[in-house]
Amino acid sequence: MRNRGAGKDRWWDALPRAAWAALPRVAQGQDWFEVYEVRPGIFAIYEPGQFEEVVSYLIVGSERALLFDTGLGIGDVRRLVGELTDREVAVLNSHTHYDHVGGNHAFATIYGADLGYTREHERGRTHGEVAEFVGEGWIWKQTPAGFSIDAYESRPFAVSDRVRDGQVLALGGVELEILATPGHAPDALCLLDRRRRLLFTGDTLYPATLYAHLPGSSYEDYRRTATRLAGLADAVDVLLPAHNEPAMPASDLLALRDAFIAMESGRAPFVTTDGNREYDFGRFSILVPDPPPFAAE
Ligand SMILES: [Zn+2]
Repeated sequence: MRNRGAGKDRWWDALPRAAWAALPRVAQGQDWFEVYEVRPGIFAIYEPGQFEEVVSYLIVGSERALLFDTGLGIGDVRRLVGELTDREVAVLNSHTHYDHVGGNHAFATIYGADLGYTREHERGRTHGEVAEFVGEGWIWKQTPAGFSIDAYESRPFAVSDRVRDGQVLALGGVELEILATPGHAPDALCLLDRRRRLLFTGDTLYPATLYAHLPGSSYEDYRRTATRLAGLADAVDVLLPAHNEPAMPASDLLALRDAFIAMESGRAPFVTTDGNREYDFGRFSILVPDPPPFAAE
């Protein structure tokens, strides 16, 4: 499988990814970030310098803006969004893993799930807990002046507004529906823009290896989420994932549901690595514990 989940040996040699070249690039003041306007008023904030190749999205309405994830906390995402919009910016995280909440601390309005898992992550992560992610083989780009790899940590933040499944965030001319999509993480969520037929999928679906094996991941929840999201395949055209590339076809929602069915059929091939099984489905693969919860033997 490509990139995430694969060996990290010179992973950056595969960059740049062709998908980005098709989009208008937006000038801004920090080399660490690349910004692309994927739709009018929707900016993909890409961090290709670190292995996760995380993608955050700034969605601008006529009254306010929403930042869907704040990235790694290596560049200054607060300063960046200030260059992209003069609206007030609130934050919502696709989930609270370190690579999506790194800039949260710089914002006053943060929407978050009403879960113990989320509260635990609001306390941040020490340098010792995240040092590996900025270590050898993880970063190829020059990090910003003032950033210290030796002091890297995931800073604490405070959720100001608890959100729930089905809640709609109105930005002025833009309405975004929150879908609780646990599986990869308990507080994973997707964001649905029905009018523009877009689904921001976070780490639930992106074009690489999907993680259903992590501490906090739930295979059962992930399967239910995949089934639910497949029901949206006719309601959206494009998926905007949180890693690697800013677009996948909506039909991949059906492929995700079918992938879970295939794994449980026992007929899908897999390779075993480090106590996990990796099932390859082409545009994405899925990593599950070995033995998986559905194993018959
Ligand atoms: Zn994650």
